[in-house]
Amino acid sequence: MMKTSFTPAQLSDPGVAESERILRTCVHCGFCTATCPTYVLLGDELDSPRGRIYLIKDMLENDRPATAEVVKHIDRCLSCLACMTTCPSGVHYMHLVDHARAHIARTYRRGWRERLLRAFLAHLMPYPARLRAILKSSFIVKPLAPALAAVGFTSLAAMLRLIPARRGNALWQRSRRSVPIARRTGRVALLSGCVNEAVAPGINDAAIRVLNRHGIEVVRPARACCCGALTWHLGRERESLEFVRRNIDAFSHEIEGEGIDAIIITASGCGTMVKDYGFMLRNDPLYAKRAERVAALTKDISEYLMMLELRPVCETNLLVAYHGACSLQHGQKINREPKQLLTRAGFVVCDIPEGHLCCGSAGTYNMLQPALARRLAERKAENIAKLAPRVIATGNLGCMTQLATVTDIPIVHTVELIDWATGGPLPDVLRTSVVEERTGLLAPVT
Ligand code: SF4
Ligand code: SF4
Repeated sequence: MMKTSFTPAQLSDPGVAESERILRTCVHCGFCTATCPTYVLLGDELDSPRGRIYLIKDMLENDRPATAEVVKHIDRCLSCLACMTTCPSGVHYMHLVDHARAHIARTYRRGWRERLLRAFLAHLMPYPARLRAILKSSFIVKPLAPALAAVGFTSLAAMLRLIPARRGNALWQRSRRSVPIARRTGRVALLSGCVNEAVAPGINDAAIRVLNRHGIEVVRPARACCCGALTWHLGRERESLEFVRRNIDAFSHEIEGEGIDAIIITASGCGTMVKDYGFMLRNDPLYAKRAERVAALTKDISEYLMMLELRPVCETNLLVAYHGACSLQHGQKINREPKQLLTRAGFVVCDIPEGHLCCGSAGTYNMLQPALARRLAERKAENIAKLAPRVIATGNLGCMTQLATVTDIPIVHTVELIDWATGGPLPDVLRTSVVEERTGLLAPVT
């Protein structure tokens, strides 16, 4: 067990007290290093979970402002949480690194370029309307990405590369309440999210169709917003907690009104965040209880669909490479369920070698650390190519956009395949692929 030396005054801060508790659970065994993507790439102990834990311990114990060295190694962490899956001692690295990031934000002044980039991301990504406006014009400048990278604007180039080749067809006017087409057996609230709604609204549409088809009414609370993860991981605690409280109010309104069985999330990065609301607001007397209730009701779409009896309408037999998003497999410990769902729906599912390693997406990581993110994406693409799948399925839009920069294999959200197999339309990205020819199936059902 790790020895710590915090003073009683330091421990009176609940954040420090929690970090101290986490630090003491680490037994220095180093098992986590083997599955940490940055250690695998860089081979530097300070870019491993154990190394970062020591850096954080030193910074917090000595009540020191973050140094450039600490910031470098913490910034390189993807928050992929592979270390938490591996750790035999149950070290809650996520809460520790979140605390370290907030400490960095308070005590370290970054260079002007980085401050500008981070402020830009924080004021853009959580807002679907702003994102849509930017996306419209950025399609024109997307081809400039290589030139920008060549003159040193690597983050800007990475941002442009991530813009999807085609935009989803948004159902802007869709109803806030979608009723089942079968006998109603349940009622859920869907977190629409921010980037999902701007970049790929078809994912939520597919989820709503599947749920409605299986007897579940879906509401989308009007006041719900970004889950807060994007700003949280940038260390912007105050802004993030505003999003969190707004979501808790919005979902509590539904819980206390007509009632809901679950809060459904189709972006696993958001799911990991919302499931942690109880912890985040544990010291807020006004919100703690409601935050816990919201967290307890939250389910990833794959987790919820496992509780329903799916009714596939066709045998697709399509070879699907399943990519487990880190936030799903490590953050929420959901890895078997999406594969079982796909198998039940008639797909042939294969595991990607080194499936525990992050693809490099990790929220805004692929824009803030483009070189490392690119190496991880290319490594993932090579592993996927070995399987020669017809399609890649995953449960997080971030992974979809990241992988699309390194492979031509169509990428879909798991729920889009489930929707298709149970009577919905063929996902757009599969329309022009060999899939339609090969199966001869599946005229869209609208
Ligand atoms: S969260 Fe991921 S990148 Fe960060 S230390 Fe853990 S395994 Fe390494
Ligand atoms: S595996 Fe867990 S206990 Fe071992 S060094 Fe890593 S964090 Fe510490």
